[in-house]
Amino acid sequence: MKTLTVSVVTPDGEVLVDDYNMVSCKAENGELGILPNHIPLVAPLTIDAVRLKRDNGEDIVAVSGGFLEVRPDKVSILARSAEKAIDIDVERAEQARKRAEELLKSKDAKVDEARARMALNRAMNRLNVANR
Ligand code: ATP
Repeated sequence: MKTLTVSVVTPDGEVLVDDYNMVSCKAENGELGILPNHIPLVAPLTIDAVRLKRDNGEDIVAVSGGFLEVRPDKVSILARSAEKAIDIDVERAEQARKRAEELLKSKDAKVDEARARMALNRAMNRLNVANR
C-alpha cells in the first residue's frame, strides 16, 4: 500500500516524522481525509486530534491549531503546539481545564473569554487524545 510521509512540527521542534497510509484531521472548514496522491492544498487546522493510520494501527496527535500542507507524497503539519498521545501529561491538562472553566464561570470583566475558551479547547483535546 502507498504511503505518505507525515511531519508534525511546532515552534519548539519536531514532534513526529513517519510514513502512514492516511491522515484524518479537522480543518477550519471541515474534516479532511488525506490519502497518497492527494491534490496539493494548504488549510488552517482547528484544535483537534490528528489521526495517522497505517496497516498495523494508528497514532494520534493532539494539535492546538496551525496549518496543514498537503503534497502528493507528503503531509506537513505546522502546529502552534502538538503532543503525541503518549506524551500528554493528563494531570497538567486537567489543571488547565479546571483553570479555564473557572475563568469562564467568573464574572470578572477582565477575563478574556475567547482566550479562556481556547485554553479549555486545548485542554479538552489533550484529555480526549490521552484517553483515546
Ligand atoms: P498549560 O496552561 O498547561 O501551559 P496550554 O494549552 O496553555 O496549557 P500550550 O501553550 O498549548 O499550553 O503549550 C505550551 C507547551 O507545553 C507546548 O510545548 C505543549 O506541547 C506543552 N504542553 C501543554 N500542555 C501539555 C500537556 N498536558 N502535556 C504535555 N505537554 C503539554
